[in-house]
Amino acid sequence: MTIAGRLALVMSVSTLATPAVAGVWDNYIRPSESSWRHPSTTAPCPRIGTQNLSPLNEATILEVAAQICETMHDPRFAERVRAEPVWLANCRTGFRPGRRVTADEVLSQINPPQIEFSAVASDPNGAVAVTNLGYQGIAISTGRFTGWQSGVPVKQQAMVTTLAHEMTHLVPQSPGSRTSLFRDRNHVERPGPLPLCYNHLLVSYDIGRIVGDLWRIRQTELRQ
Ligand SMILES: [Zn+2]
Repeated sequence: MTIAGRLALVMSVSTLATPAVAGVWDNYIRPSESSWRHPSTTAPCPRIGTQNLSPLNEATILEVAAQICETMHDPRFAERVRAEPVWLANCRTGFRPGRRVTADEVLSQINPPQIEFSAVASDPNGAVAVTNLGYQGIAISTGRFTGWQSGVPVKQQAMVTTLAHEMTHLVPQSPGSRTSLFRDRNHVERPGPLPLCYNHLLVSYDIGRIVGDLWRIRQTELRQ
């Protein structure tokens, strides 16, 4: 292949919402029927493939997922989503805002969470976590797992926020697509107004933030 051809290939890969991150998926084991576990909750919640996890990390992902599902089942979650004036499904090049979506469109796609996935505890290059629709997998850094296991609320909240964020990427752009409907390439981190594509306008980041915030509030209530 010519250099131009290789470049075109690399660029086409890099436009996917779920780019291949070297190493994370190298030893990935695909789920078999016996791999699936149900998070222990009465709230609607997807099955999780835990075949790539240690027993401790399996227990962690199931517990975190159960608490995310319970948090999203709390009526205050939908209220908070509907209170946000702007939702963006994605960003465009140049950090410009992408497609606007309504709060109800967002909720209809992600709540209740129902897309099953397999989890991996691994450190993606340059990211805390990554979702790959080709593997139907979510890889989260080992630091997030140990953060949850530490029992320190702020570290546990970070794990909740990260997994809730990644779960939004599980929704495909169209049935069977390997491209996520809710993406975050070309985003800008710090808060601010339009016209830039700030995290707090993006479905992936703001759903993660809302779930994390509400999880923390519910934890405080549970301890009272
Ligand atoms: Zn993301």
